[in-house]
Formats: sequence, C-alpha cells, structure tokens
Amino acid sequence: MLELRDLRVHFDISKRGKGKTVVMAVNGVSLKIDKGDALGLVGESGSGKTTIGKAALHLVPITGGRFLIDGEDMTRLDRATERKLRRKAQIVFQDPHSSLNPRMTIYRSVAEPLILHTKERGSVLRKRVSELLEVVGLPGQFLYRYPHELSGGQKQRVCIARALALNPELLILDEPTSALDVSVQSQILEFLKDLQKDLGLTYLFISHNLAVVRYICNRVAVMYLGGIVEEGHTEAVFGEARHPYTQALLRAVPYPQAVQPDRGEPLTGDIPSPINLPKGCSFHSRCPVRIAGTCDTVVPPDVRLGDDHRACCHLLP
Ligand code: SF4
Repeated sequence: MLELRDLRVHFDISKRGKGKTVVMAVNGVSLKIDKGDALGLVGESGSGKTTIGKAALHLVPITGGRFLIDGEDMTRLDRATERKLRRKAQIVFQDPHSSLNPRMTIYRSVAEPLILHTKERGSVLRKRVSELLEVVGLPGQFLYRYPHELSGGQKQRVCIARALALNPELLILDEPTSALDVSVQSQILEFLKDLQKDLGLTYLFISHNLAVVRYICNRVAVMYLGGIVEEGHTEAVFGEARHPYTQALLRAVPYPQAVQPDRGEPLTGDIPSPINLPKGCSFHSRCPVRIAGTCDTVVPPDVRLGDDHRACCHLLP
C-alpha cells in the first residue's frame, strides 16, 4: 500500500551570512505498509515521526528518495498525482481543536474536501456528509453546529469524518488521541480499531505512546534521530525488543505501583540535534551498552532477526 524508499527530508534553516544550517529530520527511511495493516511509528519527540507522515502527503518537501502508494510513484507532485494522492491518503492531526475552522459549521468542514475534489452538490452532498457523520457516530443534529459546541472527542470524530470523505485507503493518524482527556482517548481508540476493520483501511499510526500502539497496530517501527532502528511485527518488537533504544522505551512505559518490575536504568540525556548528526550509530551517545571505537565511528548493519523483525545494532548476530 505505502512504500518509502530511502526517504530523506532536510530543512535548510540557514540565516543570511551565517553559513549553511540544515535540519536532517528524516535520513534514508525505507518502510513498507501492506494493505489492511496498521503500522505504529514510535519514538521520542524530535525523532522525525511526524515529518514522515507529512512527507507521505507532500505537506513538507521531500529532499531525496521515493514514496509509492499502491506501487505508483507519488514522489513528484504534479496536479494529476496530487489529485490521486488526496483520494488515496488522508491525515488526522493531533489537535482537533486547531484542525477545525471555528467559523465553519460541521457540515461545511466535512463537505469541504468533497466540494474541492468531487462534483457532489446540494442534496447529494448533504446526504454524503450525513452518512460520514453517521460512520463516526455523530447524529444528524451535529450538522449545523460549530466546533466550540462540541467536546474534544466529538471534534476528533469530525476530523476523522472529514478525512474519510474521499474514501481514502490509507489514513495517517498523527497522535490522534494525545490532545484528548483520558476517558475520551479510549473511546476514540476503540472507534479507530473498529473503523479499520469495517472499512478495510490501512493505518500509519504515529505515537509516542507504546501501549496505544500495541493495542491498535499489528506492526511497529521505532524511530530515532531520523532513522528506523527496529521494525517488525508488534509482538516480536514489544515481546523481544533487540535494539537498546527500543528496550529503553519499553522500560519507560509506566506500570501500576503494585506490579512495578525491576526494569534497569532509565534512558538519560536528550536526543541529539538533527543539525549535527552523530557519526556511527545515531544512538551511541545515550546507549548504555555501546562499544567504544566501533559504535561511535561505524554505522551499524541492518540485521534481519526473523520473518518480520529487523534492527540496526553492532551487538546483533
Ligand atoms: Fe548501542 Fe552500539 Fe547498538 Fe548503537 S550499535 S545501539 S551504540 S550497541
């Protein structure tokens, strides 16, 4: 469904007369998401997760590499490709409050992509918008309300209805529940899970919350400083994490006090700046088991660990 091949996204933030400064947000990411799969993209803030989601919709310029949807190259963006891309893939952002125009009724917000990309108008358009609201569990009386009259969970359902308007096959969900109250989060997660099954959707689910990813996704990719360090079937990666960074992320997942296991040292320090990428393994400055003289100079190999499990580390056989 979605394939990234050596994707790179760099931002030139140079100031006049001060030399070249480039933020290397994504550096040679290759990933495949099969139709009907839900791939969770996890990692700390600044790892490049959101940039990948945006690049796959051309919301940020791509520096190098390619991305394909259903085998079709979508890297170069001309008008025809953009139309195809908008129909195949849509994004739902983290904050539903700022994703909706406060001056537009819910009807107008959901109808907008249909007005831009289809010829549906009048009663046909109204019927389609009502159907979309029904899909996301909002009754017809919401049609002519404004965003401020809705709760956070209801607003996120409206954003999902709008994303579904053009019948996309791929939904990019960028932290879709992190701006919501905890009680609403579980409703939306349950809803997203059912929606994927009912409509046969493919998800790229971006989150820093490993528990949420484990619940929603059948595959997971762990990102650190613009690259994928471990990838595979969710149970393989969570059950038998092999990369020291994935292991550190799993150690940081909170447990109820009563069952707090001995989890070893927590991860210390901050993710390095994407302006000055470290040599060798990108994780070496924080890795508790780094090999001096190797990890800080040589890029680790991408090691296949099973049918659907791989990781990049010098310690792997
Ligand atoms: Fe740690 Fe070295 Fe493996 Fe990187 S390659 S994760 S620094 S042991």
